[in-house]
Amino acid sequence: MRIILLGPPGVGKGTYARFISEKYNLPNISIGNILRNFILNNKNSFLTHKIKKYIDQGIMVTDSIIIKIIKKRLINIDCKQGFLLDGFPRNILQANILKQENIKINIVIEFYIPKNQIVKRIIGRKIHESSGRTYHEILNPPKIKNKDDITGEKLITRIDDNIITINNRLKEYFIQTEPLINYYKKKLLKNNFFYKKINNMSSILSVQKKINNFLNLIKKNK
Ligand code: AMP
Repeated sequence: MRIILLGPPGVGKGTYARFISEKYNLPNISIGNILRNFILNNKNSFLTHKIKKYIDQGIMVTDSIIIKIIKKRLINIDCKQGFLLDGFPRNILQANILKQENIKINIVIEFYIPKNQIVKRIIGRKIHESSGRTYHEILNPPKIKNKDDITGEKLITRIDDNIITINNRLKEYFIQTEPLINYYKKKLLKNNFFYKKINNMSSILSVQKKINNFLNLIKKNK
């Protein structure tokens, strides 16, 4: 399974990426997490300042940087049996890179929620900085307030989860990323390609069930 998760920031991609990756044993590749880890571990490099400037403003990091990262990540041995991409591709150019590299995506899951819910979801979000595990104060709280379920370490609020940056991220999404929905839907006529749109306004458990039904059906038909 070579899966892409699509949908606006705050829609829940991170939450379900973790679920799918654990359940189906796929590497969970989040470009946002890779970038945040790079910043965390390379405090004073030129590239860190450059990447941080983009992220903190809520605008996309330049394609050349992202493409280098993704190419390097996808040739890793753990991607041989499949992978899950969260946050890539984010525009048509990035999607075409996968094509050029002959990396065939066969499953796309698109998450959606009404536009007026997006800001609410992002504002309550907390993350565990080094792993990228995401929580939501109300919708998906950790077992102990403000502590990561696995390590017990403190959760933080992402610097780009503020109202000004969110608006920039949403603009970027609707202009650059949303066209990917049609880009991938056009592939539906091809064999061995599956697309699912999931409304993420229901409970986490019911969304997990929908994802399972979809992915199990694909596995059965193989
Ligand atoms: P995310 O964790 O997916 O919300 O991404 C956080 C930030 O990382 C975005 O607002 C962008 O600045 C940057 N970013 C993540 N993925 C990409 C990508 N595929 N292309 C360009 N910038 C990205």
